[in-house]
Amino acid sequence: MASGPTSRVLSSSQLATLAALGEERTAEVGEKLFEVGDANYPFIAIHEGEVAITDAAGREIVRHGASGFLGELNLLSGQTVFLTAVVTQPLRYIAVDREVLRELLFEDGSLSDLLLSAFMERRELLQREQGVGVEIVGPHGSSETRRLLEFARRQRLPHSWTSPAENEDAAELLEQLGPEEVPLVRLPGGAELRNPSNGQLSRALGIGLELGEREEVDLVVLGGGPAGLGAAVYGASEGLDTLVIESTVLGGQAGTSRRIENYLGFPAGISGSELTSRAVTQARKFGARTATPYRAQALEPGDGRHLVRLEEGNEILARTVLLATGAEYRRLPVDDLGDYEGLSVFYAAGPPEGQLCGGQRVGVIGGGNSAAQAAIWLARGGALVTLLHRRADLGETMSRYLVEELDRYGVAVRDRSEVSALHGDRGQLEGVTLSDSEQLPFAFLFLFLGATPCTDWLGEAIARDAKGFVLTGAEAGADGLLETSVPGIYAAGDVRAGSIKRCATAVGEGATVVRFVHERLTASAPAPSR
Ligand SMILES: Cc1cc2nc3c(=O)[nH]c(=O)nc-3n(C[C@H](O)[C@H](O)[C@H](O)COP(=O)(O)OP(=O)(O)OC[C@H]3O[C@@H](n4cnc5c(N)ncnc54)[C@H](O)[C@@H]3O)c2cc1C
Repeated sequence: MASGPTSRVLSSSQLATLAALGEERTAEVGEKLFEVGDANYPFIAIHEGEVAITDAAGREIVRHGASGFLGELNLLSGQTVFLTAVVTQPLRYIAVDREVLRELLFEDGSLSDLLLSAFMERRELLQREQGVGVEIVGPHGSSETRRLLEFARRQRLPHSWTSPAENEDAAELLEQLGPEEVPLVRLPGGAELRNPSNGQLSRALGIGLELGEREEVDLVVLGGGPAGLGAAVYGASEGLDTLVIESTVLGGQAGTSRRIENYLGFPAGISGSELTSRAVTQARKFGARTATPYRAQALEPGDGRHLVRLEEGNEILARTVLLATGAEYRRLPVDDLGDYEGLSVFYAAGPPEGQLCGGQRVGVIGGGNSAAQAAIWLARGGALVTLLHRRADLGETMSRYLVEELDRYGVAVRDRSEVSALHGDRGQLEGVTLSDSEQLPFAFLFLFLGATPCTDWLGEAIARDAKGFVLTGAEAGADGLLETSVPGIYAAGDVRAGSIKRCATAVGEGATVVRFVHERLTASAPAPSR
């Protein structure tokens, strides 16, 4: 492991703060403070002595000495322990219970900065270490293996993959299993699961929360993308009992974005997974509960309390509900699209993209007004733009004035064109092949293929527009700006009709909803008895 996050040290005043809240202990050389597979461990700050951190095979990863501290993200998330800590020099240390630490992080800004950034960086380093965390044993061609690998990647779980094609032991092992039992997943500590669902793997690792059959909360947030996380951070930090329900992985669409260049405060850009995992850590720090993977299946509005039914059978009774289930952007049906997304394939064209594309050959795909606006914006910035769409006549789907503007700014238009393959190197596009086999040399591609809101499950409960996006404010006949047709049920982010499909606006809307929730809860609270 590199030195930075592993070698950070606590100041003497921070050690004193921790000592006042924790328990002073000693340990002899050879003693294990925690071990791979343990369900949890306390935060450990070292007064004197030294501790080695090893993986399951006993390989040493790092040593921590005086004023150092042990722990990584699973200390906050409650996941199974991935590493072993062995005392290498007589140790005097402070052990602080997880819950006590969480409270402290809430109050002490500089300690919070130090620990949270070290925990997150340590997790990133662990993800690059072989032999740490979960082992997935399965053939490459198996869709179930790919599902679990993708889940582990998006959950930022330290994991490794053993393919039977490259490992004889794995091949022998899998031969003894039925096809429905593959892949095999080995958990830290050695327990094995056979072809677990994402939920089973999460629960086995102690990720997120195991929901009770019926939960009662102030605010249930459905969807853990930027809008949901924005609401969770503000809701929990302002004292609301907040529960986030996420059907896949916390972070939403933003979590899959290679680089977000337009998020306030990150002039050099930030990867979507870093931005959203910071938000998740922040929400947890404030005490928001996150339950994943659980899927909202039905919403039954009630008088004062609304009932959300989950696919897994659990029920949530909530005084207020935030719909933040987002929208699924239509993507191109080409296998390696993910390699290019965020680097040379984009879903929005703003100033950073305009700058990037100046003087370059650029393809814009889509026949709607948003595709036209992007093409014009890019052409005005000096790009050589070609707009490709599937129909015979652009006028069928695009406003006439935009068709004229395309012509005015020299955008070439190709009717009846579909991209069937991308070509390039390490995320940088060099060209595309069309379905008629013609090749076009594009350095950048912009996709405007529309988005489908994740609202089918809502049925008739909430008013939606013709495309299924949730109506809010005056359009829904509601008093509040982000309130839906049912009082106490709000919508924020991409799922909302008329929303601007950006991370920052989703976060802002999620945060704004918390204000309306407070107003509603205050108005509906019973008057104090005299
Ligand atoms: C590849 C890509 C790159 C992008 N790049 C940028 C960028 O650079 N800058 C920018 O500002 N924006 C960017 N965007 C747009 C931005 O990511 C979205 O606007 C933003 O994520 C919207 O946030 P959201 O919380 O409303 O929805 P989402 O991020 O879509 O999150 C919704 C969440 O709800 C969950 N969900 C859905 N149905 C259910 C259910 N029934 N029960 C429980 N959970 C459910 C989903 O799994 C998902 O995690 C990009 C989008 C994509 C796809």
